Amino acid sequence: MKLTYLGTAAAEGVPALFCRCDFCRYARKAGGREIRTRAGALLDGKIKLDFGPDSYKHELDHGLDYSEIHSVLITHTHEDHLDVDDIAHRRPTSAHFPEGEPPMIVYGSEAVEAMLSRVRSPWLAFRRVKPFEPVDVEGYRVTALEAVHCMSRAEPPTWPVVFEGVARGRAEEAMFYLIEKDGKSLLYAHDTDEFTPADMDFLAGRKIDLISLDCTNGRLELEYIGHMGATENRRMREKLIANGAADGHTIFVANHFSHNGLLPYDELQALLPGFLVAYDGMAVEF
Ligand SMILES: [Zn+2]
Ligand SMILES: [Zn+2]
Ligand SMILES: [Zn+2]
Repeated sequence: MKLTYLGTAAAEGVPALFCRCDFCRYARKAGGREIRTRAGALLDGKIKLDFGPDSYKHELDHGLDYSEIHSVLITHTHEDHLDVDDIAHRRPTSAHFPEGEPPMIVYGSEAVEAMLSRVRSPWLAFRRVKPFEPVDVEGYRVTALEAVHCMSRAEPPTWPVVFEGVARGRAEEAMFYLIEKDGKSLLYAHDTDEFTPADMDFLAGRKIDLISLDCTNGRLELEYIGHMGATENRRMREKLIANGAADGHTIFVANHFSHNGLLPYDELQALLPGFLVAYDGMAVEF
């Protein structure tokens, strides 16, 4: 498997739109790995992971051709992960294909389906996926897991005390994905807080090859539920190794960073022993 990180930032990007904080001013000057576009990735050139507002820039920067992509896995409807207006350009007035072109299938939750339902195109299709129910995507076995994300403000979350999985305390069913093929496996866990007990049970013993964890908060230790930072990433790594979801060969990646808790690349890497800190354009083969 080859995973290419096209974008590695949270919703505002790094430097953030309109922001004049110290880190964003530093990032604008430093350039290179300190510049992060909104999160998204590509697996083996075939499966697009999320389709956020910087997807078009990723296509240009990396010499990709999205007309050849026929499978997109959407994690949730936050604007950094799903840009419906851009996906809608796969329609006859915006794009041209030869006769018989198959649709691009967008996989996601009920909330993703609701957002895509206003787009009508013969070259677009939607397929609903549900946590813990594997589907075949391009010959890969793809299983959605329940993310601890999109927490409802109206109904404060009770996890981890009595979290019961889907819907409870969540405004939307956010998911992340386990992708398996030919004895190789990838866990792309964006966006989510520390995993639910049901996720941990499902992943136990799988010895996953690459695990990519949400590190939105970076160096900060925040109370709210929905994202992780370096402290939670280190703790999750230990928990995943303890239950056999990972072992000594597993590549751990920290990804999806907000400018609010960010450090210069090398300092962040020092805070995350045992992890690769993702940067835009980073490709990992495993
Ligand atoms: Zn996000
Ligand atoms: Zn900033
Ligand atoms: Zn999100």
